[in-house]
Amino acid sequence: MLPKKDHFLLPDGVIYLDGNSLGPLPKGAAARAQKVIEDEWGDQLIRAWNTAGWMDLPRKVGDRVARLIGAPAGSVAMGDTLSIKVFQALAAALKMRPDRKVILSDNGNFPSDLYIAEGLIGTIDAGHELRTPAPEDVLHHINEEVAVVMLTQVDYRTGRMHDMTKITKIAHAAGAVMIWDLAHSAGAVPVEMLDCQAEFAVGCTYKYLNGGPGAPAFIYIRPDLVEATRPSLSGWLGHDAPFDFDLSYRPALSTERMRVGTPPILQLATLDAALDAWDDVDMHALRTASIALSEQFIQQIAETCPALQLISPRDSGVRGSQVSFGFEHGYAAMQACIEHGVIGDFRAPNVMRFGFTPLYLDATDVTKAVEIIAHIVNDAVWRGPKYQQKLRVT
Ligand SMILES: *Cc1c(COP(=O)(O)O)cnc(C)c1O
Repeated sequence: MLPKKDHFLLPDGVIYLDGNSLGPLPKGAAARAQKVIEDEWGDQLIRAWNTAGWMDLPRKVGDRVARLIGAPAGSVAMGDTLSIKVFQALAAALKMRPDRKVILSDNGNFPSDLYIAEGLIGTIDAGHELRTPAPEDVLHHINEEVAVVMLTQVDYRTGRMHDMTKITKIAHAAGAVMIWDLAHSAGAVPVEMLDCQAEFAVGCTYKYLNGGPGAPAFIYIRPDLVEATRPSLSGWLGHDAPFDFDLSYRPALSTERMRVGTPPILQLATLDAALDAWDDVDMHALRTASIALSEQFIQQIAETCPALQLISPRDSGVRGSQVSFGFEHGYAAMQACIEHGVIGDFRAPNVMRFGFTPLYLDATDVTKAVEIIAHIVNDAVWRGPKYQQKLRVT
């Protein structure tokens, strides 16, 4: 049953509409971190790799994430940051199409994914090219020059959603490899990785999955392609037998070959605890609840606060779990909202972004949030000088 507010430690007086950027603290996570630090690291010291199951933790957590993205057990590896997982997926995908030189993404993608592509192109130095048409034109740019189509399913600014099944089919028909970034999908919308047949997917766990700041990222390889996947970051923990200390690299026989170095145990443990909240969540029920909250928000904002321009798709079928509005004074208005207890975020140049997370939000929260936002915008509360100051993280 949703919501499950009792799983989370949310501060009093806060309506949290930014779980799409950093999920809140699950109650079990703090206790688990304490246990890992004191009982495991403190008492068991290095023995804990065996005695506390540290070495098995990436696999265990990977299987829990896999369930949420419609992937089979054993097909998801955990570790590092999403930017690094993008690098690994892209490098492996390019190796699968040595005769092609084009990476196709779109100009709505999150910049880090595009920067990583640029960096990789420079490192390989073999004449590759990154193309970034507008998201709605991507389909027309898929052709036989394209080695890899690399897209983020849900646009971080607008919430616009790509059709994974359709685009993957078209990419495959043109002979391209498909990579999906699920940063704003995992824990937000139902994803069926295996059904969609894409070769790779990547994502992070500190957004909708509530793993905490810096929680490890994930990478999925379609199971039949594991053997054909050449790891570019061939670290010792992706080796078939790390403790043989061979002088040359031999990739693990499983998706674990996408692991690089020592796993971040504290972060994995807090993520593992965070995933407890998901055990009995049906992603379709979650999606229904998320659409209800978003629709309510859009309607109430339209009725009470016409200065905000909806820039997310109006059709919930092509919108993820966030709703964004354009407002010229969006930065100051968001600062004022935050001070008044409604936490969303701001994305340049003028986007006020609100995430809807049915695990800990209900219709009453939405109504209250709208009242506060309308007050700030309609009564020009945002004009206050303190709201104009730009902080380092927006
Ligand atoms: C949040 C996000 C990232 C962030 O990458 P990190 O390496 O975890 O900082 C990258 N790509 C997309 C699409 C994102 O939404």
